[in-house]
Amino acid sequence: MRAAVLSNFGVPLQLAELPVPEPGPGELLIQVRACGVCHSDLHLAEGDWDLLKRITKMPLVLGHEITGVVAAMGPDTDGFSLGDRVGVPWLHWTCGKCEYCVSGRETLCGEQAITGVTVDGGYAEYVKAKASHVARVPDNLSLEEAAPLFCAGLTVYKALKSSGIRAGETLAVFGIGGLGHLAVQIAVAQGVRVAAIDIAPAKLELAKECGATWLIDPAKEQPRKALRSVGGAHVAMVCSGAKSAYETAFPCVRKGGTLVVVGMPADPIPVSAVTLVAGELRIIASAVGTRADLAELLELASRGGIRCRYETQPLANAADALDRMKRGEITGRVVLTPDRE
Ligand SMILES: [Zn+2]
Ligand SMILES: [Zn+2]
Repeated sequence: MRAAVLSNFGVPLQLAELPVPEPGPGELLIQVRACGVCHSDLHLAEGDWDLLKRITKMPLVLGHEITGVVAAMGPDTDGFSLGDRVGVPWLHWTCGKCEYCVSGRETLCGEQAITGVTVDGGYAEYVKAKASHVARVPDNLSLEEAAPLFCAGLTVYKALKSSGIRAGETLAVFGIGGLGHLAVQIAVAQGVRVAAIDIAPAKLELAKECGATWLIDPAKEQPRKALRSVGGAHVAMVCSGAKSAYETAFPCVRKGGTLVVVGMPADPIPVSAVTLVAGELRIIASAVGTRADLAELLELASRGGIRCRYETQPLANAADALDRMKRGEITGRVVLTPDRE
């Protein structure tokens, strides 16, 4: 099969011919129809995150926003049939036995395997997945539009859920990229009023299409002032990986509000203890989501409220897609389609 392979950190992906994986007990072989290109893929490829660098398989097939159809089944995969439409998330496998797994927090499982990090992912014609951890894609969602829900969508869905934001409250989303534009839609679908903050006019335009009430370009007006005039943000969610986005976001949170950490700059984020205490602010972080979160999100998406903006690219353009992402040139999501030339 064809795959875009990372042979070492910092080296461009290269197309290579690999053997088709063989599904073992409890495993499915999936023919990949779509795989989203996530910002994490860029960080992984460049070895930016020490925590993950240590456990990254090498050489590696990246990609953890995968949808496709079941092409073969190993033993103990009852309930699946050839041709079933499924998706594979970041969380490739969890132990099901540790304190986190048994308390509904499997994203924290210490034994977890990660798609496109510790095991090969979806920048390939085929991928192997655990039947226990794949999700079915609702019939009314195309495989291309569903793929980004498996990481970008899931991450912001779970982050919003953890923030406790309610209908009628104000959410400020910093960075309207793949995650941000889905965060806007998910929040709007839940009756939340959204302020979108980005320096790129095209991304603010996208936020508007996604239902944002306020569009703020920090180069033109101070987000803190703009948000204060509407009462401040109950929740500020930073989807950008820029440290400066955190500096801008923190003062936008109203008293008693919450800063949600989603985007991951390599450097520590600056936080004032005085501001935290004086405003009784909370800072929470959220890592992808559980299988239950994913099922809720897919259900929400199937009701029609959430549409990922994407463009498709052939597998051969995977390296180029990462380059464009690095330069900030992508609006929405790039989805690779390995079954097409
Ligand atoms: Zn991701
Ligand atoms: Zn576990």
